[in-house]
Amino acid sequence: MIDMPAGGLGHFLGKLPFASRGDLGLDRRKVTQCALSRICGVCGESLSRPVAFLGSTEEAGRNAFHFPPTHLACAELAVATWGSDHGVLGQGHPPASWALVTTSGFEYVRPEAEWVDRRAVFEPNSVIEERALTP
Ligand SMILES: [Zn+2]
Repeated sequence: MIDMPAGGLGHFLGKLPFASRGDLGLDRRKVTQCALSRICGVCGESLSRPVAFLGSTEEAGRNAFHFPPTHLACAELAVATWGSDHGVLGQGHPPASWALVTTSGFEYVRPEAEWVDRRAVFEPNSVIEERALTP
């Protein structure tokens, strides 16, 4: 499978996603690293296409996600593992239902000084598939 990380999924179970800092939210340096180096926000390994984005249904509706891109399998595992935890996947209050979007590319929008919400934004270019995931 091309959307699986090379090391398999088991090696990060019990840890936090690569781009997370637990209940403190997202690690900004790692979020930037994911965006610029095209690496997965969950396992930290190189991404292939399509990439997946995980967020609230509101983020999917705006086409603007805060958690960095992931492998599809990693997004599914992340919701199963951390989907009910506060903060781990970039949501202060985890949504009852997560939105999973797959795309072949994305724009990375750096936060600007005047933004109230200073988190970076990821905008999928064209959505291949969107579906709901529940933890
Ligand atoms: Zn991954």
